[in-house]
Amino acid sequence: MRQIDNFINGEFIASGSGRRFEKRSPVDNQVIASIAEAGQAEVDQAVAAAKNALSGEWGQISTNERVDLLYGVADEITRRFDDFVSAEMADTGQPRHVMTHAFIPRGAANFKVFADIIKNVPTESFHMDTPDGKGALNYGIRVPKGVIGVIAPWNAPFLLMTWKVGPALACGNTVVVKPSEETPLTATLLGEVMNKVGMPKGVYNVVNGFGPDSAGEFVTRHNDVDAITFTGETRTGSTIMKAASDGIRDVSFEMGGKNAGIVFADCDFDKAVDGIFRSAFLNTGQVCLGTERVYVERPIFEKFVAALKDKVESVNLGRPTDEGVNYGPLISQEHRGKVLSYYQKAKDDGATIVTGGGIPDMPAELAEGAWIQPTIWTDLPESSAIIQEEIFGPCCHIRPFDSEAEVIDLANASDYGLSTTIWTENLTRAHRVAARVEVGITWVNSWFLRDLRTAFGGAKQSGIGREGGVHSLEFYTEMRNVCIKM
Ligand code: NAD
Repeated sequence: MRQIDNFINGEFIASGSGRRFEKRSPVDNQVIASIAEAGQAEVDQAVAAAKNALSGEWGQISTNERVDLLYGVADEITRRFDDFVSAEMADTGQPRHVMTHAFIPRGAANFKVFADIIKNVPTESFHMDTPDGKGALNYGIRVPKGVIGVIAPWNAPFLLMTWKVGPALACGNTVVVKPSEETPLTATLLGEVMNKVGMPKGVYNVVNGFGPDSAGEFVTRHNDVDAITFTGETRTGSTIMKAASDGIRDVSFEMGGKNAGIVFADCDFDKAVDGIFRSAFLNTGQVCLGTERVYVERPIFEKFVAALKDKVESVNLGRPTDEGVNYGPLISQEHRGKVLSYYQKAKDDGATIVTGGGIPDMPAELAEGAWIQPTIWTDLPESSAIIQEEIFGPCCHIRPFDSEAEVIDLANASDYGLSTTIWTENLTRAHRVAARVEVGITWVNSWFLRDLRTAFGGAKQSGIGREGGVHSLEFYTEMRNVCIKM
C-alpha cells in the first residue's frame, strides 16, 4: 500500500496532526493508499513556501531558464511515463489506453505548450500624442500574479491539474495544489519530478485532503493565495467564489456541463455513431465535455439508436491492466450511488431503457468495485432531471428532432454551456448552428479534439474565464502599463 504525504517546500511531509485517510481502488474497493490529510498548519506552511519562492531564486530566473525547467518537467514525466500511467490507473480504474493515449501525454504537453507560449507572446504598445507635441509611449509588461491555489477534480486528474500548473509556472507564479481526495497519486509523483529537474523549493506544493473544513477550504480561504483556479462541480465553484471574495481574489472556473450532441440526417452515419459513443461513454462518462443529451434528426433516429446500442453492448469491462479491457468502473461507490439514483429517476419518469440501467455482473474479485452498466434512454420529457442535471456517468438520453431551429432551442435549454458536438456533412449548416449554440466549445464532426493554444472554458454555469494558449495569461499574469512621456 502506498503512503502519500503532502509535498511542501520540496519535501514530502506527513501532517502534524497525524490524520490520514484511505484511498480505495474503484476496481475492487481494496485500500491502495494511505494519504496524509493536510490541516490548516500544513496549508499555512505550503502557502508560506510558495510565497517565499516568489522572492527567492524562482523570482529571479530568466524566462529562458524557466522555459528550460518546464521542458525538463515534461521530459521527466515522459521518462517516468509508466509510473504515471500506473498511478493514474490505480486511482481512476480507467483502462491503460486512455492513460497512454490521452491523459498522461497531454499532461506532459501542458508544460511544453505553455513554456513555448510564454517565450513567444508579445505585449501591447501604444504611441500617444500629447499637447506639447512630444508624445508618450505606453507599453505593457506582464508579471506573475503570485501564489495560485489549484483545486483539481478526479475525472482526469493529471491532465486537468497540469492544465493549470503548466501555465501558472510558465508565467512565473508558484502553486499550492489540492488534488481531489479520490486521486492524489499523480500530483504526488509530480513532486518527485520537480525535485529531480531542480525546480526551486516552494514553487510546486501539494496539500491533500477534502473540500469543506479541510485542505480545499483552507487553500481557498487563505489570504496569501492571490488567485484560485478550480475545476469541479458548479456547486463547489459557487462556494469557492464566496471564499475568494474575501481579499477580492481572482478566480478561473471550469465546471459542470450538460452537453448536447446534435446529429443531422446528412451526417456521415458511422462516424457520428462512433463520435457520440466516445463523447457519451469515454472514461465511463466522467468527462465534463461528455454528451448526456443526444438529439438526432428524425429520419435516422431509429437506426442511430440501434447502432449506438450495439456499440455500447460491445464494451469490455474489467481490470484496467487486463488485455482487451476498454471500459472501467466509476470513480467510487459514492459516485456510483449518485449515478444509480439517476438511473432510478429515469425509470420513475417513464424512460424507455434501450440498454443498461443497472449494475453489471462482475467476477467475484471485482464484485465490490464501482461498476455500472453504460445506459441509453429514450422517451423522456425535456423537463426530467435526466435531461436537466449533470449525471457524470456513462449514460445518455436520445431524442428525435425535426428542424434546425428546434434542435438549437433544445440544445440551449440548459443552465450549463460547456460544449457541443455537431454531426453534419453540410458545412454551411455546421457554421450556422455552431454560432448559435450557447457554449464555450463546439466540435463539428469530432469531439475532444484539443489544440492547447485555443480558448477553453464554459458559458453560463459551466465556467468563468478562458484558459488555453495566450488566454491563460489573462488569469495567470497581471498586466501592468508603463507610460513614458517623451
Ligand atoms: P468537486 O467539485 O466535488 O471537487 C473538485 C475539487 O474541489 C476537489 O479537489 C474537492 O476536494 C474540492 N472541493 C470540494 N469542496 C470544496 C470547498 N468547499 N472548498 C474548496 N475545495 C473544495 O468535483 P469532482 O466531483 O471532483 O469533479 C467532477 C465535476 O467536475 C463535474 O461537475 C465535472 O463536470 C467537472 N469538471 C469540469 C471540467 C471543465 O473543464 N469544465 C473538467 C473536468 C471536470
